[in-house]
Order: sequence, then C-alpha cells, then structure tokens
Amino acid sequence: MVTEDQVEARTAENAAGWRELALCAQVDPELWFPESGQPNGKAKLVCSWCDVRAECLAFALEANEQYGVWGGLSPEERRRLRRRQREAASAVEVEGEAA
Ligand code: SF4
Repeated sequence: MVTEDQVEARTAENAAGWRELALCAQVDPELWFPESGQPNGKAKLVCSWCDVRAECLAFALEANEQYGVWGGLSPEERRRLRRRQREAASAVEVEGEAA
C-alpha cells in the first residue's frame, strides 16, 4: 500500500525532475537573462525545442518569476498570460453566478 507521504515525496521528485531535462542547462545561461532591452530570441529558440517547456512555464508562473525567459516566454509575456488567465477565471466565475 502506498502512503500519502510516499505520494507527496514522489510528486515533489517529479516536479523537480523536469530540470534534469532542461535544454538551457547545456547552453550559456546568460542567454536566458539578457540585459534590459537586449534580444532574447536565441533563448526562446532553444526553449521551443525543449521537452519540458510546459513544466518550466508552469513553474515560472507558480513561482511568479520576474526575470529571464522561462518556458519560452519573457517576463512581459508571462505577465500578459497571467492577466489573461485571471480574466478567464473571472469570466467563468461570473458565468457560474449567472447560471
Ligand atoms: S523551456 Fe527554456 S528555460 Fe525552460 S527548461 Fe527548457 S530551455 Fe530551459
């Protein structure tokens, strides 16, 4: 029988495991944290090939990462995505209240 503690431990392992597959770990990390106004296209291109892009983006959104490219999105793109997610959640809430 699997205990709740074992499930939690395995979930935490899996959650962190995506980092082992991160393509950015094989490339100059400076590309993911360009100076303000500098291009981030090379980092985004590598992200587009990365197998753990979704996990990486989910982590960055959850952690509210303010700097760097995560999951192929810049900080501004993540802010816009979070705004759209909040708006969508509000719309669903309003629809639920109207029903
Ligand atoms: S999606 Fe990009 S930032 Fe995230 S792990 Fe992959 S290469 Fe690194």
